[in-house]
Amino acid sequence: MTISRARASVSYPARFQLVAAMNPCPCGHHGDPEKHCSCSATERARYAVRISGPLLDRIDLVVNVPRLTVDELTRANVGEPSAAVRERVHLARTQMLERQGERNSLLAGAVLRAHTALNAGPENFARTAARQLGLTGRGYDRILRVARTIADLAGAADITEAHLAEAVAYRPRELATA
Ligand SMILES: [Zn+2]
Repeated sequence: MTISRARASVSYPARFQLVAAMNPCPCGHHGDPEKHCSCSATERARYAVRISGPLLDRIDLVVNVPRLTVDELTRANVGEPSAAVRERVHLARTQMLERQGERNSLLAGAVLRAHTALNAGPENFARTAARQLGLTGRGYDRILRVARTIADLAGAADITEAHLAEAVAYRPRELATA
């Protein structure tokens, strides 16, 4: 990690994974179908801008997690077992390391382009999405890396429009309007 200030630029050895959570608004109920949010639009906006755009632009995945109802909490667990997910992740990780020698999250520049080369259809899709969403260069690269990972988890050699669309859905966006 390199921190540049007016007088000096300092590099620190740092490679970390950030996982963070925040409420949708100060009272915590915005977007909840059952509980009333008592915050004004201004209060929500003021709360959301605490996470600055430049910081948000460095977060790969933003996932909205709604509150579970009592019914959902008490229903029998029908989800995929963790062991199966672990196996899929292990396989995807092995494949990506064999292909390129490092994790997708570390791909950059020409190496990223080489390992996320798109066929004509997906290429069109990605360009249109980038234009319509006004993605930054960093935002576009992130979509490619996330789509590559989604394809790897699906055991797919090529990145498809579906993989790109899922990656686009995870992109950080204005928290104030979420
Ligand atoms: Zn609220």
